[in-house]
Amino acid sequence: MPEMNANDALAHLKSYEERDGLSVQSLMDSKTRGGLTYQDFLVLPGHINFDSASVSLKTKVSRNIELSAPFVSSPMDSVTETDMATYIALMGGIGIIHHNNTPEEQANMVRQVKKFENGFITDPICLKPTAKVSDVLDIKDKLGFGGIPITESGALHSKLLGIVTARDIQFQNLNAEVKEVMTTDLVTGNHGINLEEANKILRVSKKGKLPIVDSKGNLSALLARSDLLKNLNFPLASKHPETKQLYCGASVGTRDADKERLRLLVEAGLDVVILDSSQGNSVYQINMLKWTKENFKKLDVIAGNVVTREQAAQLISAGADGLRIGMGSGSICITQEVMAVGRPQGTAVYAVAEFANQFGVPCIADGGIGNVGHIVKAVCLGASACMMGGMLAGTTESPGEYFYHQGQRVKAYRGMGSIDAMQHKLKKKSATAESDTKDNAASGRYFSESDSVKVAQGVSGDVVDKGSITKFLPYLYNGLQHSLQDMGEKSITELQKSVKDGKVRFELRTASAQLEGGVHGLNSYTKRLFA
Ligand code: GDP
Ligand code: GDP
Ligand code: 5GP
Repeated sequence: MPEMNANDALAHLKSYEERDGLSVQSLMDSKTRGGLTYQDFLVLPGHINFDSASVSLKTKVSRNIELSAPFVSSPMDSVTETDMATYIALMGGIGIIHHNNTPEEQANMVRQVKKFENGFITDPICLKPTAKVSDVLDIKDKLGFGGIPITESGALHSKLLGIVTARDIQFQNLNAEVKEVMTTDLVTGNHGINLEEANKILRVSKKGKLPIVDSKGNLSALLARSDLLKNLNFPLASKHPETKQLYCGASVGTRDADKERLRLLVEAGLDVVILDSSQGNSVYQINMLKWTKENFKKLDVIAGNVVTREQAAQLISAGADGLRIGMGSGSICITQEVMAVGRPQGTAVYAVAEFANQFGVPCIADGGIGNVGHIVKAVCLGASACMMGGMLAGTTESPGEYFYHQGQRVKAYRGMGSIDAMQHKLKKKSATAESDTKDNAASGRYFSESDSVKVAQGVSGDVVDKGSITKFLPYLYNGLQHSLQDMGEKSITELQKSVKDGKVRFELRTASAQLEGGVHGLNSYTKRLFA
């Protein structure tokens, strides 16, 4: 055959019936081949005609909650408490606070995340003029801020008399009354002013706080200068569009006691709840889901876990605003080994997300995310976000203290179905002489109340110190942007459309291809992931 003219290469390409590689549909056709994990395939490169920094990772975690990045931290007691939930939200994702604690403890964590950043603070803590300097210090101690408006009655909507800030009380006697030390020469904004105008006054005034007052001089809200800085320093933060408070999620179980727990969480400002169950297709979860949708109309509910279309259909029809996909794929998990139930995660994500997305229900790929590539693959298969446990454990923001194990600085990381996690609450309880295990959340997720022998579905161990997520998540974020650029896709939305339309192509990886894709042939090497 004579050689063709190079100028005709693009035209000749069109004569091929199909594009190179596999469509997602043929890749995931598991009927004969078996289920796939993230390791089992690769995405083929596309055409680059844009800068990686311009790639948008905006996505949804549930019907009504949009994130700047597809990062969700797992509701595990070695992963998500206040710090993780605050900082992952600041970096564009969302944290789900675990429930292996008392309802009050969990609600307090939610409250702290919600109070961390504000637009207008519509419920500022106020004091009356006769309050003591020590009261201000107490507030600072408990809640972390000390800029307190002083009103006639000590409450909001009462006449504003002054403001007390850290500097006013620095050299004062603890018993002095705040009226003696407060600043009365105030710059204020008028009730009805919009946030942008109020921020402008705050910037120009160079003050730390801007009280907002109505025509009678009554305090109606407060603005903090530090929030302007937070907004500037964390441009990706996942925030409620009106309140500008960080988004915060939490998990609950499906028992009657969880209804009261949920009420406390909602009072604390919860945006989204995850019904936490390893097998979500149960009458208990469906009842809890319906009850929650009826009782908390503004709250998004993510149900799960599921790995099949049939499970998903039950939860979607019961009102789920999002689904959590995964059974047995977690790094600390032994479910597939012990229960013989579960599904390879790649196949599970594709099967469920392909179905759920048709109903506008976003899906979270949960478990088995070990690197940037896994996140990209989960998103290609239809997940809107990825839940991470092990990836975020061992960071500065995860609960627990660092310790040394075999010469390495580590933090504990444990499955919520490990005997360790289930007994955590028991240990605490024995101190208060309560011995029943009924409301042990970890136990609730993996065991039925009547079980006399606990069969573990997870292990406990440790992971190495990863430093702060304020460095680690930007690495994941930039990594994802580069990956999408390689595929020639400018956003997660466009990527998912291109996968569906067959434009983005895939390749299966044989065992030797997997070896080839890893580092090989070196005598020794150092693997530094980011700098
Ligand atoms: P942005 O892109 O994060 O600035 O979000 P918007 O475009 O919705 O912001 C609208 C206005 O609200 C701008 O003037 C922002 O500076 C301001 N804003 C956003 N977040 C906060 C916040 O947490 N606190 C305060 N005081 N203002 C904020
Ligand atoms: P302060 O000067 O000690 O009050 O602290 P900053 O101004 O540095 O920080 C106050 C932070 O707490 C801001 O992010 C506020 O949005 C947040 N915050 C939440 N609720 C309140 C409240 O009731 N009063 C005040 N002063 N800040 C609050
Ligand atoms: P990782 O990100 O570490 O791979 O997995 C975290 C996920 O594993 C969690 O979000 C949760 O769905 C799941 N998980 C947490 N604890 C356990 C456990 O003890 N057993 C099982 N089977 N799964 C767990």
